[in-house]
Amino acid sequence: MPLHNHKVNIDDLFTSESMAKPLNVHRISRKERNPKAVYQMIHDELLLDGNARQNMATFCSTWLEQEVHELMQECIDKNMIDKDEYPQTAEIESRCISMLSNLWNAKECSDPAETQCSPAIGCSTTGSSEAAMLGGMALKWNWKARRQSIGKSYDKPNLVCGPVQVCWHKFARYWEIELRELPIREGSYTSSPEDVVAYCDENTIGVVQTLGTTFTGHYEPIEEVHAALDKLQQETGLDIPMHIDAASGGFVAPFMHTEIKWDFRLPRVKSINASGHKFGLAPLGCGWVIWATKQDLPEDLIFRVNYLGGEMPTFALNFSRPGGEVIAQYYNLLRLGYEGYIKVQESAFAAAEYFAAGLEQFDLFDFLNNSSKGLPLVCWKFKEDANMPFSLYQLSDGLRQRGWLIPTYTLPPNCQETIVQRIVVRHGTSVDMLCLLLKDFKEVIAELMDSPPCHPDKKHTSFNHS
Ligand SMILES: *Cc1c(COP(=O)(O)O)cnc(C)c1O
Repeated sequence: MPLHNHKVNIDDLFTSESMAKPLNVHRISRKERNPKAVYQMIHDELLLDGNARQNMATFCSTWLEQEVHELMQECIDKNMIDKDEYPQTAEIESRCISMLSNLWNAKECSDPAETQCSPAIGCSTTGSSEAAMLGGMALKWNWKARRQSIGKSYDKPNLVCGPVQVCWHKFARYWEIELRELPIREGSYTSSPEDVVAYCDENTIGVVQTLGTTFTGHYEPIEEVHAALDKLQQETGLDIPMHIDAASGGFVAPFMHTEIKWDFRLPRVKSINASGHKFGLAPLGCGWVIWATKQDLPEDLIFRVNYLGGEMPTFALNFSRPGGEVIAQYYNLLRLGYEGYIKVQESAFAAAEYFAAGLEQFDLFDFLNNSSKGLPLVCWKFKEDANMPFSLYQLSDGLRQRGWLIPTYTLPPNCQETIVQRIVVRHGTSVDMLCLLLKDFKEVIAELMDSPPCHPDKKHTSFNHS
């Protein structure tokens, strides 16, 4: 005898009431529905999304090992903030921070007698955007304290940076900071040390440099900018700190470009952010911010709460947050080690090179990056004299019909006239997939040549990921 008097439902799923007529999907229904039917319905709705594995626009993880799926499943109920309740998850976060501080060459403090030394401090975040916000806030608070200590005004803060991701525009707007975003130049696509120092003054809270820009994947000349800021200090006394936005590069350069000095080895670098869910290979929702020493994170930004049991310092923006992403990051760090990360990133670069070589065969494109400078991505534009009867936007449209998501966009000032296309090659982008993509490029270009669109310059606006 069943406990309840419900009839066991043996109907075919697609004959059930929820499936047989259109539902009002904009209002919460009065009645419950069959979970299997609702699951199937949502599952099918999601077929309309682009396919993540064919999303060549994103820097984020779109392929994850089975073990990561399993750990995420096991951690679905873990709240990152409940550090007293889930002490091992808290411990795992702090182990990741130790590993990343070390990866980014923070000073070690094994000798307690060393009074100058204070260990790095940091936290996990939902991504680089939150991490950048925290890094930027620390710059602003520290600058204000410096200004107050010498009796100077602190009402006109500015931030000097190269071509930054939108999170820095948000940071500047939310905190009413003047964003001095330096123009880029055709051929270099990053800020230059001369420009950086020219834009700095006593109200500069810091300089942000990007290790792998969103637009072309180039690393900014961090060591050179650092040297230029040293010179500025000798000449003017201005001591300007740096924050490195290593959203992508933080997990690429330490494995692939060890000759580049960009991290805590440079004394002006006070904080670094990175996206665990990009080249860190964690699933979506994982970022990191780390400060060189405890002194670089102002006390004012640390809140202590005691209502979870124990006294817990917190400086992330969110309170509750899933714990699984951090556990999965820990898994990747333990599982891959240097050897594994090097192999994964090396194969991304090799695949990107393969793709760039294939695209070069068309003899239509000039490359802004063919993965030889910075991140494993390929970024190109039409050759000046190509005189094509269609635009890159229309080429993106044609490829989208075959499932490929390839962004076309304009570069930031002063290169706004330059229209480019880009793919990001990452874990899970195989050479075989790129062969299929090249074949589709060839066919779509041939179709567009055969029957050129009526408005060859027409931009389309539905798809622009930048
Ligand atoms: C992706 C990216 C960000 C934003 O990071 P999220 O992890 O998506 O929040 C910031 N800066 C750079 C350079 C990026 O590539």
